[in-house]
Amino acid sequence: MSDEKKTVLSMRHINKTFPGVKALSDAQLTLREGEIHALMGENGAGKSTLGNVIMGNSQYKVDRGSIFFEDEDITSARTDERAQKGLFLSFQSPIEIPGVSISQFIRTAMETKEKIRLKTFRDKLKTVTKTLGINEQWINRELNVGFSGGERKKIEMLQLLMLNPKLAILDETDSGLDVDAVKTVSRGIQTFQQDDQKSLLIITHNSKILEYLHIDYVHILINGKIIKTGDASLIKIINEQGYEPLITGQGE
Ligand code: ADP
Ligand code: MG
Repeated sequence: MSDEKKTVLSMRHINKTFPGVKALSDAQLTLREGEIHALMGENGAGKSTLGNVIMGNSQYKVDRGSIFFEDEDITSARTDERAQKGLFLSFQSPIEIPGVSISQFIRTAMETKEKIRLKTFRDKLKTVTKTLGINEQWINRELNVGFSGGERKKIEMLQLLMLNPKLAILDETDSGLDVDAVKTVSRGIQTFQQDDQKSLLIITHNSKILEYLHIDYVHILINGKIIKTGDASLIKIINEQGYEPLITGQGE
């Protein structure tokens, strides 16, 4: 029964204000083991803020409310502490580190958790690149060379499968991904999810990627408020009619 599933993440009454903007207003969310949740909403709704609040990025300290990860209060934990506990947030903005290759970057990220032998790392990287359909040579590319939106998504999926967190938060870039990138992302997510103890929060304002996945719950965020939580049928409504029907049906 679903009641017996372990709660992985619980956000309670989260409020976050920026000068002139209430980015999150009493946001509540509970995510259990093995579940995929989608957080949807228009631009500026507060989606990325919610992701950043969960990760504890420095500009996103909450004004009020608490966040629990596996029953532990992480509201004041540092980002690296949260990562060590098994949280992962994909990078929405370009990462540019001169002189560092993609593979070095990923290895460094992995080693913040535990030392990993080069051979073990290389073997794992080989398996993961193969799964994702990524050219093995490509990962030696420097992180300071301009990456396209689609390429960035590939790096994220590489990181996801290499770091193998308990809960991954994937914040979609607003730029439309090409078919190739959408395939890499869905392949990455499906592989990650084969382990039924892994959970995902997919943040998106367009739902292309959601069509390829089995989504357990959909949360609709409007003006910093989660106005509705439902099953995957909400995706269809948004695809066909936009957010308007959900806003007007809010008080029912
Ligand atoms: P979404 O990801 O849904 O498009 P965001 O969470 O990025 O929305 O933004 C929600 C609101 O919070 C916006 O009005 C945005 O300008 C504001 N905001 C987000 N991050 C910051 C920040 N670091 N500093 C100031 N305002 C911010
Ligand atoms: Mg955003």
